[in-house]
Amino acid sequence: MQQYRNYIDGRWYESAKRFDDLNPIDGSHVAQVHEADRGMVDRAVRAGRAALDGPWGRTSPSERAALLYRIADEIDRRRDDFLAAEIADTGKPVSMASTIDIPRGAANFRAFADQIKTAPLETFQTDLPGGAQALNYAVRKPLGVVGIISPWNLPLLLLTWKVAPALACGNAVVVKPSEETPGTATLLAEVMESVGMPAGAFNLVHGFGPDSAGEFITTHPDIDAITFTGESRTGAAIMRAAADGVKPISFELGGKNAAIIFADCDFDKMIDGMMRAIFLNAGQVCLCSERVYVERPLYQRFCEALVQRVGELKLGLPQDATTTMGPLISAEHRDKVLSYFALAREEGAQVLAGGGVPHFGDRRDQGFWVEPTVIAGLPDGARCVTEEIFGPVCHVAPFDSEREVIARANDTRYGLAATIWTSNLNRAHRVGQAMRVGLSWINSWFLRDLRTPFGGAGLSGIGREGGLHSLNFYSELTNVCIRIDHDADA
Ligand code: NAD
Repeated sequence: MQQYRNYIDGRWYESAKRFDDLNPIDGSHVAQVHEADRGMVDRAVRAGRAALDGPWGRTSPSERAALLYRIADEIDRRRDDFLAAEIADTGKPVSMASTIDIPRGAANFRAFADQIKTAPLETFQTDLPGGAQALNYAVRKPLGVVGIISPWNLPLLLLTWKVAPALACGNAVVVKPSEETPGTATLLAEVMESVGMPAGAFNLVHGFGPDSAGEFITTHPDIDAITFTGESRTGAAIMRAAADGVKPISFELGGKNAAIIFADCDFDKMIDGMMRAIFLNAGQVCLCSERVYVERPLYQRFCEALVQRVGELKLGLPQDATTTMGPLISAEHRDKVLSYFALAREEGAQVLAGGGVPHFGDRRDQGFWVEPTVIAGLPDGARCVTEEIFGPVCHVAPFDSEREVIARANDTRYGLAATIWTSNLNRAHRVGQAMRVGLSWINSWFLRDLRTPFGGAGLSGIGREGGLHSLNFYSELTNVCIRIDHDADA
């Protein structure tokens, strides 16, 4: 069986402790993963420190940018390997992995290579009493050894979203992918090796969170900063771990995102967009809409069209080009999503579509599938309307006025993303700006320019990444202030 090992200081490390990587399509084995112990994580952190003190620490931004381009080119060259590994770990359709996950993995390296070459720095000239002046300028330096912990839903995309800017800024990284999806991270370590990344600059450790590699990273005294994508309550645990060292943190966390559909929208474009916003990656995208508010005159028509389109979703094998929805990531996550389907019924919801487990009559019956599901009729305070489910499910509710729907959409402890559908230009800007979220999409969803700020409010995160925001997080800025006296020497 395939072995996924740890990559530390430019070498591959096995571990006596191993766990199984499963294919969610049918529960079959993909690989054995070598779990890093505390000693290995410590070795990775020390390797990172040594890299910073060595030639890696003396690279210029343009040298690093060139290296990042080589990484992107190598991901492109090994596209089929990356695709196979991502699909085996997640079961997602090839139509998604080949257009989003893998190309974005490469694009992240190119985007931050370009950013670091052109990033401006501040300069201020200060007038002093008596005619003297001071010149202030900022220099960008790495933070040090950065711990990067990522989730399973978009494994390569979300990992490289942090690895690329961290390396662009000259940091060393210790990376831990999700235990559910170790495949493409391991391939990325192979890419680092083949493009000549200096030993210790990129280290990969496998394992779980508590009492495993995740916790060993976040509690390590010589980790200088932590960047994390995952659940809000994991973020809270990591924040406690980071508190002792007062370490910089950047968090991209959960969401309970609202979609707002006005009766004046372009109905066909909206329904296409909402099918993606609710069901892409079987709803396992932090940006997915789980609360859908529809202006009352359109409510009935929307529900009927949504239910019809849900019936047309094709739950199939990833390699089948006609497949539009895959399984959930694990048996545990499927049980969590099914518990919300049961809760919805207990809370008194109408189940307009789905609500159960599909039966295939083939090997998929051993996999981790649920039906795409639409529920309605719950009060805004119901748990299914307030808690992140992270599956192919949404709750639909009617609304009567713009003011009312803004208040209801914003009535959440999360604050990641919103999608708004209207053909009224003024309303589009008004509502888009009124959302208490990091990302407001109008007549679109998950439309990304990598230079723009990305992140969430409330329980959805701390800080923003993307473009210069990433560079500023992954850098330590030092302001150099020099006094200039204008009385010339004799
Ligand atoms: P998770 O929090 O369970 O795990 C994420 C990572 O953290 C994994 O690598 C895990 O091993 C590690 N981890 C868990 N406990 C830890 C601990 N105590 N210390 C250190 N590391 C620990 O999240 P998940 O289930 O993998 O991902 C789904 C969640 O991620 C959802 O809530 C989703 O909304 C969120 N998410 C957010 C964004 C965003 O950009 N805001 C993007 C994708 C996913």
